[in-house]
Amino acid sequence: MSTHSTKQIQIGVSSCLLGDKVRYDGQDKKNDNVLKLCGQFDCIAICPEYAIDLGVPRAPLHLVQIASEIHARGVANPHQDVTGLLAEFAANIHKSLPDLCGYVFKARSPSCGVNSTPFFNEDGTQQLGFTSGIYSGCIQQLSGNLPVVEETQLNDNNEILRFIEAVHAFASARSRSA
Ligand code: SF4
Repeated sequence: MSTHSTKQIQIGVSSCLLGDKVRYDGQDKKNDNVLKLCGQFDCIAICPEYAIDLGVPRAPLHLVQIASEIHARGVANPHQDVTGLLAEFAANIHKSLPDLCGYVFKARSPSCGVNSTPFFNEDGTQQLGFTSGIYSGCIQQLSGNLPVVEETQLNDNNEILRFIEAVHAFASARSRSA
């Protein structure tokens, strides 16, 4: 463990997990384990779908595979493709929040999931597997070994400890290289 004052260490968090009513249905997904983590770290709430002006409530998105690429499209309106907007927002967050030392993402979201989000064939009729959301996938690609976790993993105390230690190690490595 590092000697950092933990409250100085920034982590990103999917806003809905902190109780913000930003989901497509106007609800939140407040999670007590995530709130506890935010007693230790400086949590920065981020909702990519809200940030790209999709509004609340909004029509839900899902992930579809088109050729070899995954896209985030409207479930009811396949002409609504927000893949580029979500990727661009991730690049902006990567640039504007260079001190993030970890990230807690909402499981199964087409924007925020980490290897837990179902993706479908192009017409949405057949599930093909699971992958990361567009935003979280870009954040992971851009941020290298940034520690990430989904709220569902935080039901396990060992996973909470593993994440906390990984965040401290990341913060220490970063301050040594600064
Ligand atoms: S899962 Fe991500 S995109 Fe969806 S409401 Fe939560 S923060 Fe917003």
